[in-house]
Amino acid sequence: MANRILLGAIADDFTGATDLANILVRGGMRTVQTIGIPTADTGLPECDAVVVALKSRTIPVGEAVAQSLAALEWLKARGARQFFFKVCSTFDSTDAGNIGQVADALLDALGEKIAVVCPAYPDNRRTVFQGHLFVGEALLSDSPMRNHPLTPMTDASLVRVMGRQSRHPVGLLPWSKVGAGETAINEELAALAAQGVRHAVVDAVRDQDLYAIGAASRNLRLLTGGAGLALGLPQNFREAGLLPVEANADALGTVGGAAAGLAGSCSEATRAQVADMARRCLAVVIDPLVADDAAGLAAAALGKAAGALSRGETVLFYSSADPAAIAAVQSRLGLEHAASLVEQTFALLAQALVAQNVRRLVVAGGETSGAVVGALGVKALAIGPQIDPGVPWTRVLGPEPLLLALKSGNFGRTDFFSRALDMVQ
Ligand code: ADP
Repeated sequence: MANRILLGAIADDFTGATDLANILVRGGMRTVQTIGIPTADTGLPECDAVVVALKSRTIPVGEAVAQSLAALEWLKARGARQFFFKVCSTFDSTDAGNIGQVADALLDALGEKIAVVCPAYPDNRRTVFQGHLFVGEALLSDSPMRNHPLTPMTDASLVRVMGRQSRHPVGLLPWSKVGAGETAINEELAALAAQGVRHAVVDAVRDQDLYAIGAASRNLRLLTGGAGLALGLPQNFREAGLLPVEANADALGTVGGAAAGLAGSCSEATRAQVADMARRCLAVVIDPLVADDAAGLAAAALGKAAGALSRGETVLFYSSADPAAIAAVQSRLGLEHAASLVEQTFALLAQALVAQNVRRLVVAGGETSGAVVGALGVKALAIGPQIDPGVPWTRVLGPEPLLLALKSGNFGRTDFFSRALDMVQ
């Protein structure tokens, strides 16, 4: 059967899904990210992995379980041999859920004895030692995550956190075994499984540990963790002869057409990126105080860009502003209204630009990206080359050729926009 995949992943948020997909592509697996649970008619190109991006991190636990199981069924039907439940590297959750409960449901649905649990991601300074999660030098419970508005993390012991969420026994696979390599990890996993442990929290402080855990997991059907836990998985498929040694997994092809940037993030990184790009191309500001309707704001911005767009030149549209300006907008319009007005403006701009033959769009801002993807009706993306850590180019799967780079506000170096646009044609 065509389009049988090797790895099926379920991610509890969108940017986390992209992070995982990016790691798989870099490992040589052709990867597609879907937005929400795919339907029966979601077409897939030839690919090796699919990451289903849910928004299940903080929804009611019953819904998170139901959506994750539906995603699992879809991935199973596509032939996936192994499954990955992608959670945040700071294990964002509460005692009410959703990590342990979803992991239980997946484990039970797969009829598996044991799964590994590891959010370590040394590149992002997340490490796990004696079952305790560290953010840089600090225990998770001493990090800023302890004050997160939705998922305050006040206990760094993942064995305890999982123990409160899961109905199944949780155990520790300590670094003394992990550091000894694949065979020691396998022996310990077997010992834990024999004791009835169903979720093994695994220590990892270096990428080398994650590669060893990946190799030891070749026969496990479920892994729960951060994107780092996937580092070692492509090699298993390669060794089994299921993946080519020389993979060109990030090829997206060319699209032609013009390019544009849409910046709705007001983060420091994005503001510096906007200033940099404004020196290189026409930059049109969107000021929500000028008109109180998105259609009017979008039309005015497009009017200012009409000449450049008709010549096929790159244009940057941005609403990014400093905290004082944002506070002024929010006090006039209200926080939510201001946000939705700006997001709606970017949604309309994206539609108009694509209609005018823009084929490469760089979008800055998590919510802004969500608005753009929604407006363009994007259901799935093929993941391409990495622009900056965690941010790849993607190709929209659909009738129109269109490349999207979607980054959350704080990501990327200062010349992000121009470097991104130089990478693809
Ligand atoms: P980030 O990834 O940096 O959090 P987001 O796109 O997720 O960026 O969030 C930025 C939010 O700020 C969006 O809701 C956006 O609509 C809003 N916003 C952007 N520009 C302005 C502005 N000039 N005034 C008020 N709100 C704005």
